[in-house]
Formats: sequence, C-alpha cells, structure tokens
Amino acid sequence: MDSLSPVETYLESTRKPQRAQTHHRPSSARIEVEKGEVYGQCLRAQFYSWKNEPETNPPDLSGLFNFYMGHIIEDMYEEGLKLEKKNYTREYPFQVDIGLKNILSARMDFIMHEEGKDYGVELKTGYGQGISRTKAKGLPKENYILQMMLYYKYCPLNPYKIENPTYARDSFYRLPFVLIGRDDGTFTIGSHKGFRDIPWTCDMLLESWVKLEDYLKTDTLPPKDYQGTWNCNYCAYRDKCKGEVK
Ligand code: SF4
Repeated sequence: MDSLSPVETYLESTRKPQRAQTHHRPSSARIEVEKGEVYGQCLRAQFYSWKNEPETNPPDLSGLFNFYMGHIIEDMYEEGLKLEKKNYTREYPFQVDIGLKNILSARMDFIMHEEGKDYGVELKTGYGQGISRTKAKGLPKENYILQMMLYYKYCPLNPYKIENPTYARDSFYRLPFVLIGRDDGTFTIGSHKGFRDIPWTCDMLLESWVKLEDYLKTDTLPPKDYQGTWNCNYCAYRDKCKGEVK
C-alpha cells in the first residue's frame, strides 16, 4: 500500500482522540416524531459514546477532510466579517442546566452583535447529492434544525434568530437558511423557498435525553434508531452495533 501523502499525514494529525461524553451536546439532539420515526443522533450510538466504547469505525480520511473544509469555510467567513467591519464573537460557548443529570454544553459558530440585538450564525457545508436534496427540499438537515432550536432557546444572549448559511463545497452556492422561534415554543425556517413551520419543540428533544440517561443508569443497550440507513453508514460504531444480538 502507498504511504501517506503530506496532505493525508496532516489530515491524520487533525484526528481528535476519542473521549467519553460527560455532558449533552446540541449535535447529539434527537427527536422521536412518531413511534419509530426518529431524527437526529441515534440513542444507541450516544450510549456507546457515553460508555467510552472504542469506535469500531472512526472517521476515515474523507471524513477528516470534510471536517477540515468546514473549518476553512469558518475562517473565510470570519475574514469576510472583518472586512465588513462587523461586530461579532466567534465560537461563543455556553452551558445550560436542562434539569437532567448532565448539563447541555454548546458552542455557537458566531454571535453577531447589532445595535443592541444579537443573533447566531451556525455554518454548515455539504456536497453532491446531499446538498442538492437539501436545496430541493428548502430545509436544512433535520439534525441541524434540532441543533439550531437548542441554540435559539438556551443561548443566554437570547438571539432573535439563528442564521444557517449552508455552502456547497463542490460548486460554491449558498443556501441562506434562518430559524426563528415563536412564543408558543414552535419554530419557523426561512429559505429560498419561503418560510416553513417546524412543529417540534425543545421539550421533545429533552425527552430523548431523559431516555438516554435512563438507559445509562440501568446499563441497558437502547434499540437501534436506524437500520442500515445513511445514518448507519457514517456511524463510528456500525460494526459493533451489527455484532450485537439485539
Ligand atoms: S449503526 Fe445505526 S443503529 Fe447502530 S448505533 Fe450506529 S446509527 Fe445507531
């Protein structure tokens, strides 16, 4: 087999060591819309992570490359903000006691400060058929919607909206999504196709974490949220999960 090229050597150096989870993260949000219909991160995958089970399928070089490209877009975004002389904070961290055993720990890509009001920016990228589907649907991926809902509700700066510019890495078009919350706890998302209502609430997200904490307390392996879908294709525990008797 070929040895690594310098680019590959560099990408390998960006690999983060595996660590057990100690708090809930917005990116691990999950929602059960109806019995058996689930969006967001699989409870079983989260269970393995909290238990510090060794990953059987860690990200390959293409996964590391995608991750790195996300950082480059963030750097470019910040350079643009500087040129436009905008007032912002990059990577705004916050923690929230969500009433469970473990707290919620989050980090928003950017907070924009504008005439006494703040809003958040969460950048995403995609490519190929994935972003073409997102464009056709006129909605961000479900797990990104869940993440933004949490930012909107729990960021202590009370952002009045969360912008979610999503860039195509292969052709460089931008989908200008924005999430806005309502007083009744529901959300609406604006896109190039107009505004669409999201009927999910943050309470529905917390229910999933209550379930997870129960599974952890009783050391019970959660059922599979997904069966051979694209979620499983990108799961760091897919071989381990496949080898389980249930
Ligand atoms: S392989 Fe699929 S069902 Fe199993 S833990 Fe991963 S995402 Fe969940």
